[in-house]
Amino acid sequence: MYYKSTRNSDVNVTSAQAIAQGISKDGGLFVPSEIPSLSLEEIKKIGDMSYADRAAAVFSKYLTDFTEAELRYCVDNAYSTKNFDTESITEIAHLFDGTYMLELWHGPTCAFKDMALQILPYLLTTSAKKIELDKKIVILVATSGDTGKAALEGFKDVPGTSIMVFYPEDGVSAMQKKQMTTQDGDNVGVCAIKGNFDDAQNGVKRIFTDAKIANKLDDNGMMFSSANSINWGRLAPQIIYYVSTYAQLVADEEIKLGDKINIVVPTGNFGNILAAYYAKHMGVPVNKLICASNSNNVLTDFLKTGVYDRNRKFYTTISPSMDILISSNLERLLYHLCGENDATIRDWFGKLASVGKYEVSDDVKAKLAEEFYAGCCDDDATKACIKEIYDKYSYTCDTHTAVAVKVYEDYVSATGDKTRTVIASTASPYKFSGSVLDAIGMYDENADEFTLVDKLAEASKLPVPASLEALKNKEIRFSSSVEKADMDAYVFSSLGIN
Ligand SMILES: *Cc1c(COP(=O)(O)O)cnc(C)c1O
Repeated sequence: MYYKSTRNSDVNVTSAQAIAQGISKDGGLFVPSEIPSLSLEEIKKIGDMSYADRAAAVFSKYLTDFTEAELRYCVDNAYSTKNFDTESITEIAHLFDGTYMLELWHGPTCAFKDMALQILPYLLTTSAKKIELDKKIVILVATSGDTGKAALEGFKDVPGTSIMVFYPEDGVSAMQKKQMTTQDGDNVGVCAIKGNFDDAQNGVKRIFTDAKIANKLDDNGMMFSSANSINWGRLAPQIIYYVSTYAQLVADEEIKLGDKINIVVPTGNFGNILAAYYAKHMGVPVNKLICASNSNNVLTDFLKTGVYDRNRKFYTTISPSMDILISSNLERLLYHLCGENDATIRDWFGKLASVGKYEVSDDVKAKLAEEFYAGCCDDDATKACIKEIYDKYSYTCDTHTAVAVKVYEDYVSATGDKTRTVIASTASPYKFSGSVLDAIGMYDENADEFTLVDKLAEASKLPVPASLEALKNKEIRFSSSVEKADMDAYVFSSLGIN
């Protein structure tokens, strides 16, 4: 197994190289040369394993240049009760008959990003060692709220690395901001930018692919890598929980081996749902992949029409981690769907960069329609959905997950499909206490964030995550805020180079 670039099919690197580098020099994303397969028998066996063993089994198909010992080192350190509040690492809750909430937020920062970012530092430092890289790895992150904190927790004080996070000044929740600005660790930096997530992501991508900047880092014994889902080391760990969940539902006799399931994913950068696509094409029986968006519904329109058009109003919503108009990982999907034609991808993504718009071929449109269903909802519908499931099923979910539930309800009304369905629950409701309380009619505008947390505890009966509780008394360490043009300067000054 080797990795190609979506913008140059002649690129041919090992997984260690792909992970250490983060993004290909041509600006393309690394993709596996083929999607490995998993038989139903193998999937069944996975149902008897611990999460760490499940992870090792799936990784062994993708990271073929890693030794068994290297994989064990990575999975054992990442997926244990040292980092997660449940032995099973993820939880499956029953919403109603045949509908399962896959809770991916039992890690240290209470969002699904932990599933990948707890292991990425191990994958990355192991990769660096394997390719005999003797440079300090500088991780640059653009975050819409959750990735930043999860990456900081994963990389803090990891030897040989340094991490810098950029977040949109007015685009994250109060709890997300508090989580990031109080971050400890000697190798971390956090900075707000005056702009939205797309500005932060574009800024980071620009810095990454600027040869002059790369040379400057090189002169100082450093190199960039990425902890965003453009890094294959972020995406591969996300495939695991879809395989794991299917195997678990079989083991629990909720479904029979071979039965198809739907998977619903609240989507922003298209990483999480793309992982479900890989799981499906490895052999997990999946009927529809359901892509749920908030008012930033560029993906809904794209999956319905084949026209991607980012020239539209940007909304700041109560599901901020999905406030994205340029979904990076779509490039990987389209590369697979267009027959791995790098020229086609260069054409489409060149148009996206120059005019903000492209249209895929009829052949690709047909494939998209077969695999995906897409829907969206606005903030009012999101809140109404939180209230509905709180009242009906005594289940409290966060704003992102509610978007997925609502779009799933719309899907069922439109199609009548009765296939059993897994809904990705991507964050703890405590990360968005204000919006969740508002939805269920218990918001108090005079209360501070931690009083809101206490109120939500009363309403939801869910234990407050210790990591969020601990923030109450933490001091703010990072208060910089820069114009997007000044991101480079912030990077250089943090690294002490000029
Ligand atoms: C990041 C995030 C999403 C979107 O996931 P993508 O992989 O970017 O599509 C959804 N919900 C939450 C809570 C997130 O943090």
